[in-house]
Amino acid sequence: MADARHRLLSVVENLDAHVRHLKEEGVREVSVQPETLAALSRAIDAEGSSAERAVRAPSSAPQAAPAPVQHKEPIAMSQTLKSIADRVAACRLCGLCTTRTNTVPGQGSESPEIMFVGEGPGADEDAQGLAFVGRAGKLLTQMIEAMGYQRDEVWIGNIVKCRPPNNRKPTQEEMQACLPYLKEQIAFLKPKVIVCLGATAVQGLLNDMTGITKLRGEWRSFEGIDTMPTFHPAYLLRNPPAKREVWTDLKTVLEKLGRPVPAKKR
Ligand code: SF4
Repeated sequence: MADARHRLLSVVENLDAHVRHLKEEGVREVSVQPETLAALSRAIDAEGSSAERAVRAPSSAPQAAPAPVQHKEPIAMSQTLKSIADRVAACRLCGLCTTRTNTVPGQGSESPEIMFVGEGPGADEDAQGLAFVGRAGKLLTQMIEAMGYQRDEVWIGNIVKCRPPNNRKPTQEEMQACLPYLKEQIAFLKPKVIVCLGATAVQGLLNDMTGITKLRGEWRSFEGIDTMPTFHPAYLLRNPPAKREVWTDLKTVLEKLGRPVPAKKR
């Protein structure tokens, strides 16, 4: 009996450690078969183990399941995005792989209303493996917050996932080589709106060579998703008065989403 109790305690401790690890990895819910929970519950009841307190939900009825509930999507989502990021990390489809320090697959919410897409990583992004973390990234964060979101509530990425040397514009071939990764991300994240940052991003995503000054502020569509072209934050750093036009475009996005326009911008 003592051995059985010890094994049960060990199972519960391992389960607890595993759930804590998943939580640290960002997983919020896991799928557990009802029979598994019932069997565990019966075993705990039979042993009268103190481990019962560690796994039972505090307010549950006698037969109620512990905290984990059936919900498969969060794990599937993380695995899908990780799979894309892993393939990007190993990608050698264009010449940018030879000069990159880190790949920059993009990051953010896994169920974003808005996806911001720029042209490619710069020096800071290349060093950190994260999109929009330099000066332009700080300005993008301000734009996002002005809209009433937190940065981690949207998705932020680029057309190309590796830094072009000397911050040159990525070529059409490089953008075409990399676009399938972004398409996969878009198909999975299903944003309600894409905000396309700058002329190069518009060229890469929409294959439209029209200047951004003409395109900005007018709705376009990418594979059925409303897409708003606007100026790149790096351009705003060089030309601050253009912030007014960008704010107009972002307010149009908020209206499309049915979100209130915050009283104060910036
Ligand atoms: S830029 Fe894109 S296509 Fe080119 S090597 Fe990097 S991940 Fe691959």
